[in-house]
Amino acid sequence: MSFQPLPDVTDDSAAFWQGGVDGVLRIHRCRQCSTWFHPPTPVCPECLSMDVGPEATSGRATVQGFSVNMQPWAPDMEVPYVVAVVSVTDAPGVQLTTRLVDVSPDAVTVGMLVEVIFQHVDDIYLPLFRPVIEPSEAS
Ligand SMILES: [Zn+2]
Repeated sequence: MSFQPLPDVTDDSAAFWQGGVDGVLRIHRCRQCSTWFHPPTPVCPECLSMDVGPEATSGRATVQGFSVNMQPWAPDMEVPYVVAVVSVTDAPGVQLTTRLVDVSPDAVTVGMLVEVIFQHVDDIYLPLFRPVIEPSEAS
């Protein structure tokens, strides 16, 4: 069994899984009540409107919680790796379970600002996140 089974891409979720084509993290939003929601569905969970669709976000998010995995579930997996729940900055209420990359597990903190980076696998783009390096911090 694969550690990271590829998701089924449906009409509703295509924008999410294939947003990496142009590097944009797209989250579903209701055009009636402006609620952002995930996973994408054809009906708004708030007001049951069907006037919903994917909207572009900045791709930035904040780490809400994380765990460090030491177990290589597949032969080609590098360990340790960090599984995190992040809240999408532009989409209040939306949290994604994802993997953090380009960061030492020791350096991950709750509240850390991260940005999306897409891993292209077959015909989908897995949204992973890496720390945002602000220009002011780099100097
Ligand atoms: Zn709604």
